[in-house]
Amino acid sequence: MADKTKDLKKKLFSQKKNGWDRVSAAESKKIDSYCKHYMAFLDAGKTERLCAAEAIRLAEKEGYVPYERGMALQSGDKVYVCNRGKGVMLAYLGNKTLEEGAQITAAHIDSPRLDLKPNPLYEDSELAYFKTHYYGGIRKYQWPTIPLELHGVVILADGTKKTVNIGGDAGDPKLVITDLLPHLGAEQNKKPLPEGISGEQLNLLLGSRPVGDEDEGQRVKLGVLQLLNEKYGITEDDFNSAELEAVPAVNATEIGLDRSLLGAYGHDDRVCAYAALQALFDLKETPEHTAVCVLADKEEIGSDGVTGMQSAAFDTFMEDLCAAQDVPLRACYEKSFCLSADVTAAYDPNFAEVFEKRNAALVSYGVGIAKYTGARGKGGASDADAETVGYVRQLFEANDVIWQIAELGKVDAGGGGTVAMYMANRNITTIDAGVPVLSMHAPFEVVSKLDCYETYKAMKAVYSDK
Ligand code: MN
Ligand code: MN
Repeated sequence: MADKTKDLKKKLFSQKKNGWDRVSAAESKKIDSYCKHYMAFLDAGKTERLCAAEAIRLAEKEGYVPYERGMALQSGDKVYVCNRGKGVMLAYLGNKTLEEGAQITAAHIDSPRLDLKPNPLYEDSELAYFKTHYYGGIRKYQWPTIPLELHGVVILADGTKKTVNIGGDAGDPKLVITDLLPHLGAEQNKKPLPEGISGEQLNLLLGSRPVGDEDEGQRVKLGVLQLLNEKYGITEDDFNSAELEAVPAVNATEIGLDRSLLGAYGHDDRVCAYAALQALFDLKETPEHTAVCVLADKEEIGSDGVTGMQSAAFDTFMEDLCAAQDVPLRACYEKSFCLSADVTAAYDPNFAEVFEKRNAALVSYGVGIAKYTGARGKGGASDADAETVGYVRQLFEANDVIWQIAELGKVDAGGGGTVAMYMANRNITTIDAGVPVLSMHAPFEVVSKLDCYETYKAMKAVYSDK
């Protein structure tokens, strides 16, 4: 009788289990090697510009060429377009025409960070600082007292573009935001967490050494500006036309005694971006449908703007590809499928109260499908239909992808969004799936190596579907 019950349970109950109990030793090796490359990708691309450049470098090595309007295209061709240095769209032309639709993956390569204000430089009490304006959903208290580095571009008065990198190279000095000593923290301690550190306190410490005549003021600021001028030709007004981003000065590293996890800045969403990219590169033969990989910018602030997923830049790219085959864009879209590849929250037993465990993504249970995101009554969600979930489920099973399906957290706890709705609004069948993340949006996020690899397998399955 007991055996019979066991059999019946096996037949009827969900059989999902920890991914490490499902992968072979050989597969485990593949996971490690994949993650090594992913870590290098993270270290090379800590901002959307650097990440786009790295993606293009890798793509060109794989035979992808810049697409130019009017270019004749045939199946097997590999092309890409870079959107203003901050986004990349790649296509591997399939055997079928675009009238049969494209198999698309869309991830984003921007991450929460601290941007410099347009007039950032000042001196206070003989210390020099940069004022910042945070980008994306950060928890402000997490950013002081960690080493930071600065990347971006400055357009000088004569139009010259200078690439800035302070702290990114070995041996470089880093920047930091200071915090209060606990001895004097009595009042600060009483504040609610979001107010403990204010936006106007997120000021980057730049230096303390005065230069020039003792009877002059602002000599520390002068010293800093002198160094910047020597290296980049910058004067104070040049910051007006600059885009400089402070990001954690920490490289990706293995986490845990068993090395099963990866810690890094910017897993959201470079962990899916890398999976989408590498899966495209690893297609062994020309795909049936055209495979498209989108690495978008501006997701963390709503996907608005010319480099965001709502931009017509994507439609232009697709329309150009369609035009080469005399296919109307709308005909392509309605037969296309998009996997909106973005991270989800991983269940954290340290904060169990915000999760609903039966519907939470678990670390190492594989790529996490999200039928919908949004907040409250699914507000702001692209709620994929059962047919789409059914399609993805079958696709993943057929390709041995370890997967799970989850919500972000408890219904009333909050919510979030992805690019899914912007793809779906284009009349493209879309669903979210990605890697579960611990400490999402923190300067140092954690993911499971296994989940990274399963997400890569998921992307490959999407591109190769016939
Ligand atoms: Mn994201
Ligand atoms: Mn995010």
